[in-house]
Amino acid sequence: MRPTALRTHLCGELGAAQVGQSVRLAGWVHSRRDHGGVYFLDLRDRSGLVQVVVNPEEVEAFLAAGKLGAEHVVSVEGAVRLRPQGMKNPKIPTGEIEVKALSLKVLNTSKTLPFELDERTTALEETRLKYRFLDLRRPPMLANLVQRHKVSQSVRRALDAEGFLEIETPILTKATPEGARDFLVPARLSPGDFYALPQSPQIFKQILMVSGVDRYFQLARAFRDEDLRSDRQPEHTQIDLEMSFVEESDVHALVERMLKTVFRETMAVELETPFPRLDYADAMLRYGSDKPDLRFGLAVADCTELFKDSAFKVFGEAARSGGVVRVLSVAHEFSRAEIDKLTDLVKKGGAKGLAWLKYDGTAFTAPIAKFLEPEKLSALKERFQPKPGHHLFFAADQAPAAAACLGTLRKEFISRLKLQPDRPWHFSWVTRFPLLEWEPEEKRWTFTHNPFTAPLDADMPKLDSDPAAVLSHQYDLVLNGVEIASGSIRNHRPEVQRKILSLMGFSPEEQEAQFGLLLNALEFGAPPHGGIALGLDRLVALMRGEDSIREVIAFPKTARGACLLSEAPGPVDPRLLKELRIKVEAPPAAVPAK
Ligand code: ASP
Repeated sequence: MRPTALRTHLCGELGAAQVGQSVRLAGWVHSRRDHGGVYFLDLRDRSGLVQVVVNPEEVEAFLAAGKLGAEHVVSVEGAVRLRPQGMKNPKIPTGEIEVKALSLKVLNTSKTLPFELDERTTALEETRLKYRFLDLRRPPMLANLVQRHKVSQSVRRALDAEGFLEIETPILTKATPEGARDFLVPARLSPGDFYALPQSPQIFKQILMVSGVDRYFQLARAFRDEDLRSDRQPEHTQIDLEMSFVEESDVHALVERMLKTVFRETMAVELETPFPRLDYADAMLRYGSDKPDLRFGLAVADCTELFKDSAFKVFGEAARSGGVVRVLSVAHEFSRAEIDKLTDLVKKGGAKGLAWLKYDGTAFTAPIAKFLEPEKLSALKERFQPKPGHHLFFAADQAPAAAACLGTLRKEFISRLKLQPDRPWHFSWVTRFPLLEWEPEEKRWTFTHNPFTAPLDADMPKLDSDPAAVLSHQYDLVLNGVEIASGSIRNHRPEVQRKILSLMGFSPEEQEAQFGLLLNALEFGAPPHGGIALGLDRLVALMRGEDSIREVIAFPKTARGACLLSEAPGPVDPRLLKELRIKVEAPPAAVPAK
């Protein structure tokens, strides 16, 4: 950074090269120590810390230093010198030097802090969010913001180099169906009408393709009024992009090139590309998840064929009645108590029970071993090559239930057995998702990704005969078991788009009302197009090793959607409501605690 009127250098950039120079610094008093009549200050600004020594000879500076408290803001003039031998601190970048103060001016004071601004804080998250301006002074929080900034800049550079145009789409708009509830904004100039905040720029980015923009991107805010499960935010940021005249492989390759640049520029990590691709069906079979963490082996095996003629009812009947028998084999010895816990865990997810076998070095032992035919046991031994102590866990059910059961177990084993990842970063594409899923409550088909995703050409005929079997051009990008992006090739032909909307139960009138904007544009020569949106918050959180996206958002909301800093949401002046012609009903009485 260039010098300003108030400073010549930043604290953290001083080192041996500046020894002998006089400098003017400005920043916060991180700490003050009184060492027998000499004050040692750690002065902090965004760049880091430097030690400032204030001797009693500098009378005014010394008196001022005596009154300093934590987080007072000061300006210091002094000379940089090497620290005496034995006083160097290799733990901080400026640990070789110190600044001998000649003058010290207090620019501002600070109230007593509600919590210490340490690297690791034990302060409650509520307190941290309420005093976010202080929390963000903590070096790891600042580092999170720096990383986020670097990623955004790198994305911009990479996409600019690929011919993308950065274009803003409206925030005050009409509903964009992405499967969540819309946030609404009353329109004063059109009483009784509302804008919706965009759940994503989906429709506008598709329209930009119809406009011939060819390649669009935006670091876009997406607003979704969801019940905030664990780590969701009502507003999140997407690296949103759309491209014309592309197939899936083009979008994948573009994203791979972009992420390669971002990881190289911001973390000095060389990613290996292309990322592996696996079909949704395969992901569900082998890992019981559509976002498997592939840094760990532990794949599920299908043994349905083996048990088709088994007299053991649980396996035989599942295999013969269109279900599956799948096995997760783990080189680990579990106690009965542990197996009981695992059984409870899968039962919570809807499984009826958990069958297992343990290999003792010569034979399988377990309650079910005596019901299984000896040739089945030897086939299992042949297939899984167990070592003594090895356990096999079985799921015999319809495929989705078996996947859910073994997927839960796989995740549990990864954390419980503290399995070591085989690499720090594992990206993979999951493709070929079903286009539609049945909504039993509403008795209609609904989209699995968004309503604009194109079916595979080969599956078009099944739209009428067997909608459940239609696969789509949806793709997700998974990083270390976390879905960080989702996108698809879209329906660019209006008749296909209308047909899919009809399947989802939208009458022609509803289609016009909700999707008219897009459908109309598609009628005017829409090019084939597709795109994707990456979750910026999640990506940066993973890069920084943070569990929660709140740690990488400057001003996040709580799980109840509140901003503790600004106290939003809150009541508004009744005059405003009147202008908007809005009457607010009293909220429902709180349910008394039992
Ligand atoms: N609009 C989609 C979403 O927000 C992403 C996409 O399909 O490009 O998930």
